[in-house]
Amino acid sequence: MFDDATSERLHKDTEAGFIAIAGNPNSGKTTAFNRYTGARQHVGNYPGITVEKKEGLAHLSDGSTVTLVDLPGTYSLTAYSLEEVVARRVLAEDRPGAVIDVLNTSVLERNLYLSVQMLEMGTPLVLCLNMMDEAKERGVTIDIERLEQKTGLKCVAAVARSGEGLDEALTEAVKLSKATKGRIDPLVISYGPDLDAVLPRMIELVEKAKLLTDQYPSRWVAMKFLEKDKDIIGRCRRIDNAACDQLAAIAAKVEAHLRSTLNTYPEAVIADYRYGWINSIIKDGVLTGDSEAFERIALSDKLDKILTNRLLGPIILLVVLYAMYFFTIEVGQYPNDWLSGAFDWLSEFIGDKMADGPLKSLITAGIISGVGGVLGFVPLIMIMFFMIAFLEDSGYMARVAYIMDRVFRFFGLHGASIMPFIIGGGIAGGCAVPGVMGARTLRSPKERLATILTVPFMTCGAKIPVFLLFTGIFFKDNQPMVMFILTLAGWAAALLVSLLLRSTIIRGEPTPFVMELPPYRLPTLAGICIHTWERTWQYIKKAGTIILGISILIWAAMTFPDLPDSEMTMYDNQRASITAANEGKSEDELSALTADIDNAESAEKLRHSLAGRLGIAMETVTEPAGFDWRTNIALLGGIAAKEVVISTLGTAYSLGATDAEEDQSLAERIENDSNWKFSNAVALLLFTLLYSPCFVTLAMIRQETGRWGWLFFSLFFNLILAYAVAVVANQLLA
Ligand code: GDP
Ligand code: MG
Repeated sequence: MFDDATSERLHKDTEAGFIAIAGNPNSGKTTAFNRYTGARQHVGNYPGITVEKKEGLAHLSDGSTVTLVDLPGTYSLTAYSLEEVVARRVLAEDRPGAVIDVLNTSVLERNLYLSVQMLEMGTPLVLCLNMMDEAKERGVTIDIERLEQKTGLKCVAAVARSGEGLDEALTEAVKLSKATKGRIDPLVISYGPDLDAVLPRMIELVEKAKLLTDQYPSRWVAMKFLEKDKDIIGRCRRIDNAACDQLAAIAAKVEAHLRSTLNTYPEAVIADYRYGWINSIIKDGVLTGDSEAFERIALSDKLDKILTNRLLGPIILLVVLYAMYFFTIEVGQYPNDWLSGAFDWLSEFIGDKMADGPLKSLITAGIISGVGGVLGFVPLIMIMFFMIAFLEDSGYMARVAYIMDRVFRFFGLHGASIMPFIIGGGIAGGCAVPGVMGARTLRSPKERLATILTVPFMTCGAKIPVFLLFTGIFFKDNQPMVMFILTLAGWAAALLVSLLLRSTIIRGEPTPFVMELPPYRLPTLAGICIHTWERTWQYIKKAGTIILGISILIWAAMTFPDLPDSEMTMYDNQRASITAANEGKSEDELSALTADIDNAESAEKLRHSLAGRLGIAMETVTEPAGFDWRTNIALLGGIAAKEVVISTLGTAYSLGATDAEEDQSLAERIENDSNWKFSNAVALLLFTLLYSPCFVTLAMIRQETGRWGWLFFSLFFNLILAYAVAVVANQLLA
């Protein structure tokens, strides 16, 4: 931004480089600058642009001097005004060693908006809390130590007009400049589920094309595409136009999505979350009194007084979570019964119309009982997604994160681990794949790794139908409560495993964190419906593709190889002899008489099949957990995708079913199977919650950690943990 000669001179003056003074208009920058430099100041224009530029020499108390530059006053670093463009170019291109951020303390909230943006650019800051005199007059008090703790920045109380605090601010800035050489790790804050989901991909593109990455952090550049910043995008286009097209396309897609679901746009969401970050800092005991920030106490703040209250907050959270399951199950039970009834009818109808044989078996047992079992849960899942969409769109989800944050540090996780947990199914119904990817917002590699490895314990949308099926059978009277407890058990497992990992193989210090609290919004019905449908459609699509494919494979493994001819003849002979002995009886009476033989034959067929033999071989290991060979096959298939547990059991029970059972649902069949005990069901529920992540999640873990080792760790550690828990549960309850 300066001409080359000026820039060079500025950096030669001191080993610390030059110090810039930044802040909102009228925060007292020029007053401070004049106090620092006395008469020795230059006034001029920034080359090519007519914005006044001031620089001068300041003397420190130890006799050394440092060059100061007074930046134009701005509220923001977006490219809306010339001042903003100039300010951020000086910060990025000329790189001051450190910046004294002059704030009007009485309106701290608004003033910190610029600070957040400088931190996001990776600029080392000293916060100069100016106009302390006025703030005191207004009855505003600030807990400076707490503010330092929360932001990790040096904060100095100042009155620029009298010079109070200015020396200290400058000394700290010079110190910071020597320590950081003008660059710190940029601040990374969450921008909510929609933007966080696309940012990793955008950052990848920015880094690959090297778009201004020598000057700005790559995440910052990516965000400029979301903010449609003409200045930055124009400069990037000159570097790699094709990459910019891709970035712009992603940005346009998110924008369209935000417009249709939340009736908002990326810039507004970004601003919301920045203010959310600021709010959570200054509300949490930093600022008290009667400032402008408090005059603006809106509904949002009043709600937060209750919803994020230390005591009430967690209680309300638990009630919300329980209520969600309660309504899901109470309301969802009716459409659910109709739908499973429809599938049973379909299966029977096709069964009657088609001739016996492998094709009929494939369609009724393999596809309808398998995939239909998974699709049967669509109404329940849809109702749950509807409520989750409401919690997300309203802004409550961010509060959940805020409340949980307090617990996290203890377990060696980071506050930013919460979003990945929630995305992974922490409130139920998420997916570990984006959850693991969402851990990218974590800067500390150790905390990130601990998060990635524990996200799969959450109750993702694929585990939900398994839980619903078995709690519906074995916990008829308190199904919502048990679903609720399973969700909490997932959290407990994640936290405890994290504690274990962080005190053994991934030990390390925690890093500071502030949680964003964007304002509450009344969600629109259309927005919630779109979100609900998007997720439900994902579920249906998965059932119709991946689950269908796996179901057919598993059906084949359960059907072939067929019984040897000798055994088939044996069953045929038995039937023939009964028919012969009861000559003259009707067909119905005959089939009732041969039912036992049919049963024995289909059971034998299953046991003889590839899957049957594998499942039986596994029984030696799984017996203490109470899993029979059918459950073994279901759980093995569940590593491909957790819904497969349901579809496999559906197929197994359907293949083994007698004529009399043909119109029964999987739930009824399991209920009537005397081999299924309460203890087995509890063991299965816990095992499903904890055991190995599905294939796609495992692949994502490999990608995100960059190591095959962590893939195998997840696969086997979780398996062993789940097995141990299941055995204990089964033995205790048996
Ligand atoms: P700039 O726009 O950031 O350069 O702000 P100025 O330095 O021009 O200051 C704006 C107004 O605030 C001026 O009237 C200053 O006298 C006044 N001012 C600056 N610092 C303080 C302070 O610490 N306390 C009070 N009460 N007023 C101040
Ligand atoms: Mg000024």
